[in-house]
Amino acid sequence: MANKNVSHVIFDMDGLLLDTERLYTEAIQNVCDPFNKKYTWELKQKVMGKKESESVKIIIEELNLPIPDKQFLEEVHQQYNILFPAVELLPGADKLVRHLHKHNIPIAVVTGSDTASFELKSQNHKAFFSLFHHLVLTGDDPEVRHGKPAPDPYLIGARRFDDGVEPSKVLVFEDAVNGVESAHAAGMQCIWVPHREHDRAILEGKTELILNSLVEFKPEEFGLPAFES
Ligand SMILES: [Mg+2]
Repeated sequence: MANKNVSHVIFDMDGLLLDTERLYTEAIQNVCDPFNKKYTWELKQKVMGKKESESVKIIIEELNLPIPDKQFLEEVHQQYNILFPAVELLPGADKLVRHLHKHNIPIAVVTGSDTASFELKSQNHKAFFSLFHHLVLTGDDPEVRHGKPAPDPYLIGARRFDDGVEPSKVLVFEDAVNGVESAHAAGMQCIWVPHREHDRAILEGKTELILNSLVEFKPEEFGLPAFES
């Protein structure tokens, strides 16, 4: 399945480059605590990678929370303000992105986050994010009508490279099932890097490759320059 002359690489951000998924869970659980509700892994899987406005509706409905969307969002955002500035890069992210950048492989980020959330999470990683050709912040990007799992975010991500790119030559890295579906719907190759708790059977045999961590990635297997040892 692999080795299809990849020329461009697009990364998801949350839970793939940045160790934010843990913090999202903590923030949302803190808001659910007063109602004695548990933000479960099953529920989290349903909202991962979706636009925030869609995620909030799903969480409130599934947990029967007696508060309006707006209030839930405000409380969650207060938690983000506290938790996000200290977020760390995930293992292997820095090395891989620097390597691709050094070899002039065009790279981009396509995330469900909006601009404010991105600013909060990237404030201690500005040099790292400056290496990308562009970032698609689908949370408030006017061109993105439908979030992941629709193909729109990745198609728009591909179109914004200087000369555009054939989707089949794009390799996507994703940690969320919604994101893998989005990349595949866009006609791209996708490597899934699921969280430890994730049930891998969901996508077994349906995606190009499954890795435990970006550290395991061998660029040469996708026609990209190998790491210098
Ligand atoms: Mg993600």
